[in-house]
Amino acid sequence: MMEKYEILERLDLSQLTPGSAIRYRMRIIENGIGQSVNLPLMTARGLGDGPVLGITALVHGNELNGLKVVQDLFKIIDPKKLNGTLIAVPVVNVPAALQLDRRFSDGVDLNRIMPGKAHGNESDVYAHRFMDRVVKEFDYLIDLHTASFGRANSFYVRADLSNEMNREMALLQQPEIILNNAGADGTLRSAAAELGIQAITVEVGNPNRFQRGMIRSGVEGIINVMVNLGMIDKPLTVAETPPVLCRSSFWMYTDKGGILEVKPDLTDEVEKGEEIALLRNVYGDVVARYNAPQSGIVIGKSTQPLGQSGSRIIHIGIPDSSL
Ligand SMILES: [Zn+2]
Repeated sequence: MMEKYEILERLDLSQLTPGSAIRYRMRIIENGIGQSVNLPLMTARGLGDGPVLGITALVHGNELNGLKVVQDLFKIIDPKKLNGTLIAVPVVNVPAALQLDRRFSDGVDLNRIMPGKAHGNESDVYAHRFMDRVVKEFDYLIDLHTASFGRANSFYVRADLSNEMNREMALLQQPEIILNNAGADGTLRSAAAELGIQAITVEVGNPNRFQRGMIRSGVEGIINVMVNLGMIDKPLTVAETPPVLCRSSFWMYTDKGGILEVKPDLTDEVEKGEEIALLRNVYGDVVARYNAPQSGIVIGKSTQPLGQSGSRIIHIGIPDSSL
């Protein structure tokens, strides 16, 4: 039997019944043959007053860990013991997810064009309606991502550490690394911040798969934020190792095509001048060696050996104990 969900035109918080968890679908666009494309929504409105916390996943359609984080989170949230409202969008970029792809159906990266445009092209309109009909209602936002295809990430958070609440939300994730990042234009995080929403990005591992440990960490981080906001009553989870705070980061790229071997692992510390990667030609000869231009910590790295000139090698964060 096909499950049925009420189809909403927009998220309306006043319609949510206190003390209940309800799933919806929200009409967002129509496809070329006039069928509506619907966004899945999971809601839980508590009996007590409190903030509206939004959790978004799959802004990039192949970043699956966030979907499981949302599902697992809702298994442990009891709306009768909740203050405020939890709204999750397990799949933001529906057309991309259907293609098992990162980008929207017109080839655009949704996380570069937020908040979109009411009268724009396909991805603009989709982004605008998502912001206007869903995100606008949030007080807080945790946007779940992973590395891109062919790369691996540590469990890390991107947040504006000059904002006290952002900083607190980031620390509550208990990640391996926190990267201070004011937010590039066009990201969901910065578009939400423009609306006065406290927003962070959590990078939950690698794309195209479910990683049990990463998913557990993702859920724990959100629960910690909910405890801190007074939405639920639970002890905070405390990680054994505190995160490394980084003031900035940079990517290194190859200048030749070839077969790449990246030496350090995720979260390894690298020294300035240390050899971090080798590039071999198709015959197996080493054709380039890459050294770290600065000391730092490995946030992410390429896992795809074969690449042309300009392929990504490694993402290095610059730790700063004064942050
Ligand atoms: Zn992403």
